[in-house]
Amino acid sequence: MTADRATGQAGMLPDAVYQRLIELILSNELPPDSRVNLYQVARQLDVSPTPVREALSRLDDDGLVVKSPLKGYRTTPVLDVKELDDLFDLRLLLEPVAAQKAAENGSSEALETLVEEAGAFPRAPAGDDAADYASFCRHDGQLHALIAQASGNTAIARSLARTHFHLHAFRLGYEESAGQATLDEHVRIAAAVARRDADGAADAMRAHLLASRERLLPLARRP
Ligand SMILES: [Zn+2]
Repeated sequence: MTADRATGQAGMLPDAVYQRLIELILSNELPPDSRVNLYQVARQLDVSPTPVREALSRLDDDGLVVKSPLKGYRTTPVLDVKELDDLFDLRLLLEPVAAQKAAENGSSEALETLVEEAGAFPRAPAGDDAADYASFCRHDGQLHALIAQASGNTAIARSLARTHFHLHAFRLGYEESAGQATLDEHVRIAAAVARRDADGAADAMRAHLLASRERLLPLARRP
């Protein structure tokens, strides 16, 4: 891949178009519950409609847009309080046991990768660069996915992946202090998993999910 293909607008790779669309959604440039004009987005990103159509189809799988037969694509509404609370109930069932099993069964390579990912973001992003939030959102999702994968329980890993939780959570809003608390909690979980402290890992994950629910519910209650 040449630098030109990775960054050049006309040659933008399908995955880069997908990531740009996520940035537009997370930054509200494509607001919730509104029409997405495929051709307008293609013009804005200076690409042909084909990669935009592909990206929209991926975003449809993620639950960030929906396609209606004659009207094209719309962004989905943000999660309401009940939907968010339900997702946390599900995560509380899946993820503490995933952390416990990752500590018990994870390969040393998997645990090393997890610790690296936990250290990849020493500071929560501040400022108004949408790309920073998109990469922070990816990091958050990736950390949880790595724990689920390290657990060796593919049913848990798949169920968790299907929720696309982090994409939805980051649409509710972002605060630097909440971002920093998230990072500190991630480091504690990864450390417990890495020292193979199964109970400590489960407890740290449960504490993270409960704290994260307290941080996010007020955002979902906002009118
Ligand atoms: Zn997290």
